[in-house]
Amino acid sequence: MRRLGIITVVSPTLLSSTPSFTRTLSLTLQSPLRNHRLTNSITFLKSRSLASFSSSSAAYLPALDYEFPSTKGSVATRDDDNKKVILKGMTYASLQEWVESHGFRPGQAMMLWKRLYKDNIWAQNVDQLEGLNKDFKRMISEHAEFGALSFKDVRSASDGTRKILFTLDDGLVIETVVIPCDRGRTTVCVSSQVGCAMNCQFCYTGRMGLKRNLTAAEIVEQAVYARRLLSDEVGSITNVVFMGMGEPFHNIDNVIKAANIMVDENGLHFSPRKVTVSTSGLVPQLKRFLRESNCALAVSLNATTDEVRNWIMPINRKYKLSLLLETLREELNSMHKYKVLFEYVMLAGVNDSMEDARRLVELVQGIPCKINLIQFNPHSGSQFIQTDEDKMIKFRNVLAEGGCTVLMRFSRGNDQMAACGQLGMLGAIQAPVMRVPEQFRTALKASA
Ligand code: SAH
Ligand code: SF4
Repeated sequence: MRRLGIITVVSPTLLSSTPSFTRTLSLTLQSPLRNHRLTNSITFLKSRSLASFSSSSAAYLPALDYEFPSTKGSVATRDDDNKKVILKGMTYASLQEWVESHGFRPGQAMMLWKRLYKDNIWAQNVDQLEGLNKDFKRMISEHAEFGALSFKDVRSASDGTRKILFTLDDGLVIETVVIPCDRGRTTVCVSSQVGCAMNCQFCYTGRMGLKRNLTAAEIVEQAVYARRLLSDEVGSITNVVFMGMGEPFHNIDNVIKAANIMVDENGLHFSPRKVTVSTSGLVPQLKRFLRESNCALAVSLNATTDEVRNWIMPINRKYKLSLLLETLREELNSMHKYKVLFEYVMLAGVNDSMEDARRLVELVQGIPCKINLIQFNPHSGSQFIQTDEDKMIKFRNVLAEGGCTVLMRFSRGNDQMAACGQLGMLGAIQAPVMRVPEQFRTALKASA
């Protein structure tokens, strides 16, 4: 029996009977694998003053203070017992440093980098490092690992969207989606966490709670693997969106590092404009991202009042709409030709009135942006109903007449649960369902 870690579990009964903010339950689990320590955390911060939980008087906010095994430092290693570095977790600068520390030349580091990421090689093992000298290859096989993920399965939806499932070293599963689009564009949608702590009420991944952060290597490998597996079938993968499982800014160190690796011009060479990181609105991390990364930003707005956003996106209780939008207004106005993409999932009777549309026009005034109206993707247990297409179009027209640039995104990969907000797998413990404000109760499924 091996102790794998602490699982912080919060259940309604536990919370309603405890005066403290969180309760921690330590579990001892049988290790299915050698050499892996898992810190599995599902935590929700309790805040009685803000809202109430549907089956108790307690209320919850996503906690932003998880403790994870540190992923900082330039070289990512597998674990304490096995000091091999994981190649995909290194930026070029740190790869070069590591190569030199073993007595090899910077030029050899570049040859290795190119074989990992370029020219359709995407090397998975030392045998695929053609042209590298023998001693260098021996050193690599002794001290480094290539893969960070194990392929589990790929599922194709009727519209051509593919969902790839990967198993992680600790047995957890993540999902990556490849979406072929028109005009030669194919997008890979990568996950940044296993599950998500933000508990957005319309999102399947949110129901899982957070299991753990992905390492930079686990994020980068999703894009490399998608290219290797599907480029022949779907053509070159041109865009990356961090819109899979998880809140990227809750794992910002690894996300910024992974995005840097993806845009390196000697490697995967995605254009920074075509790598988009999407956030539910973690304001301090959003500022940091805009200062440290040149990749694109999307913000999931999804509501035009704090009342609705507090309910459907509990992170809004910490970072209110006005703070989020004012921060964007300030930051973007000092940037050159940079536009944020606002995502707006349309939920019938909740955020899709013409009044919402007019309010949205007002809210985004002065922010260089585009707005993406997203059709809600249903999933088991979800209370929400899709806005019909006619209404989406009317909503879009109000925004366009108000001077906004608007796009509409209809469901992709729905029949394989590969669409936005449908990724993940629910376990026994699920995130709490928030209390529905009185005036929206009739808009939800149970009452439809
Ligand atoms: N956590 C990040 C990125 C992952 S979610 C974020 O929230 O931005 C990616 C997008 O999917 C977000 O815009 C989110 O609002 C949207 N989404 C979540 N659940 C959805 C659902 N059931 N139907 C349609 N879009 C959904
Ligand atoms: Fe997390 Fe994004 Fe889903 Fe919200 S919408 S629960 S932030 S993955």
